[in-house]
This record gives sequence, structure tokens and C-alpha cells, in this order.
Amino acid sequence: MASSDCIPMEDLVVLSLFAPADPTRSGAHVPQTLGLAVDFSGPSLIAVRDAFEDHKSDMDISRAGSYLAAIKKVRSALVRRPQDGPGPDRGCRGLSRERLDCLEWCLSAYGVVVARDSAVRLGVARMGASSEKGFGIFARDAIPAGTTIWDAIGVMPGDNRASHSDLSAIRVAAGQNQSTGAERVLLGPLRMLNHRCRSFNAVFVYEEGTSAFFAQTTASVGAGEEVVVNYGSDWFGETCPCSDCSTAPGASPLLPSAARSAPATMRPAWNALDERRVSLTVRTQEKAADFLENRRLGYENSAGERAEKKRRKRMEGRKRKQASKTGTSKLT
Ligand SMILES: [Zn+2]
Repeated sequence: MASSDCIPMEDLVVLSLFAPADPTRSGAHVPQTLGLAVDFSGPSLIAVRDAFEDHKSDMDISRAGSYLAAIKKVRSALVRRPQDGPGPDRGCRGLSRERLDCLEWCLSAYGVVVARDSAVRLGVARMGASSEKGFGIFARDAIPAGTTIWDAIGVMPGDNRASHSDLSAIRVAAGQNQSTGAERVLLGPLRMLNHRCRSFNAVFVYEEGTSAFFAQTTASVGAGEEVVVNYGSDWFGETCPCSDCSTAPGASPLLPSAARSAPATMRPAWNALDERRVSLTVRTQEKAADFLENRRLGYENSAGERAEKKRRKRMEGRKRKQASKTGTSKLT
């Protein structure tokens, strides 16, 4: 899997499934994208979301075969979907086979944490003491220490060539199927796990011979509690936003404060990251607004269609009644 194919598909799935209905509402959490540019439009986002919703009831994660078959149905529904209008957006029809494979993988990975009987679920967590929010992974029921959480999967593409936001990086472990120590971008729900300096309750584990990672608990996690890992002491530099470090209420949001207090040698990197992060948020918000508007129009159209269908049915019913009265109905 090439990073240039995987990153856009990860973004497409995350935005489609998890973008808020109203991104302008205060406290609404717009998911951050891994890619620096999102090259799909509102209709594509809605198509993915609708196709996923249509097949969600068939996504039984206790039966792997039927679960994967339901995901395949989402993929084929997206490929078959007719193009919307004359615009340049070909939606999922124009995607290469590689991208469709990545899309299918992302749908299957995120579909698991959305399923009702999964071990963990995706939720929105407060970042330390700041007002900043982000996604987090939460236990549905209590999870004992030493449990591998297979539902929280992460996978790395085979290269690190496509530009990305640096929000989610991981190194290849010895024994995996890529060159040991190389940096990769992490895809999948595992990347939503948040950091704690001391009170973490899980670690990342890798699967030998594959490109996959999972979470494994190091302490028992209570029902509804967040699963958290330690990214490493140097990840956030001197100003760590985690709740172990920042306990003062109203602490500054994550990156701006880190940029101010990071060592001078690190500042250019922090600033670059911060700028990227800001532009990413703006871009995602534009996308989300586009998404919202398109979805609203979609709902209006389908409501209109439903009303029209009802009207036609009523008319047919009336005609049939009249026909049976006059004895010319085909049924008699
Ligand atoms: Zn910390």
C-alpha cells in the first residue's frame, strides 16, 4: 500500500463517518486530516457516509466473514453510484483499484470501533486541562490488564513519500514486514489513542511479519474509561498538554503554547507544524461546511422524492379503486 493511496482514503473515511453535523457549533470537533490537502468533495463524503449507514445493520463483528462481506457491499455501492451532475467530481467511481482497496480497509477498520459490540469505541476527549478536544478511544466494558485490543487496529503504508500532517507517526518494529526503524504514518483507529505521561494504561504492540499495530492494556481499564498510551517523553517537548502535566484550568491549546516554550532549536519545527495544523483545520472546516450543505440538500431532495412517491402511490391506489368499481381492473 503506497502512502499516496492510503492517506487520502483514511481522510475520506474519517471525515465521512465522523465530521460533525454542524461544524460551526461551539465545541464541535472537526476531525483533523492526515493529508495536507483533501481532494474529494462534499458529495463524495455524503456518498461514503450514506453507503456505510445503509449496510451498518449487517456489520456484525462477531462473524468476520459476513462483516467483511458487508464492507464489500459498501465498496460496490460506492463504485456503482452514478455521478452527481456535470461537475468534475467523479466520487468513488474515479478511484484506482489501489485506492478502493485502501478505502475498503479503512471502512473495515473504523467500522469495527463503530459497531455496538466492539471492545472499544471512538469518542471525543478533552485534551488535558485545555478546552481543546480530540478523538479518543474508550472502553465499552471493563478490559483486564494484559488484553490485546484487536478492535483498535493501526496499519502503516509501505512508504512515507506522500506529504502528511505529521500528526500520526510510527516506526517500523523489528520483525515486521518493512525496513526496521523507518518512519511511517499510522492509519486506522489506533491513531486516535491519546497520550499520558504517567497515567497511561496501554502500549502499542505490533504483529510480527505484518504492517499492523494494536493496543495492549498494561493496567485494567474501567467501563467508559479512555484507553491512553505514552507516545514517548520527547513527543511534546517541554510543554506537554496531557492531564498528567497540565492541571491548571484554562491552559493554552496544545500547539501554540508548545511553540512558545519549546527550545529555540525546536521552534522552527513547532512553528511549521502549528501553521500546518491551522491551515488543516481551516481546510477541514471548509470541507465540513461543504459536507453539511450538501447533506442538507440531499435530505431535502430525498424528502421531496419521498413525498412524490407517496403522492403517486395514492393516485395509483385511487385509480385501482375506480378501476375495480368499473370492473376494468386487470386484477379482476
Ligand atoms: Zn504529559
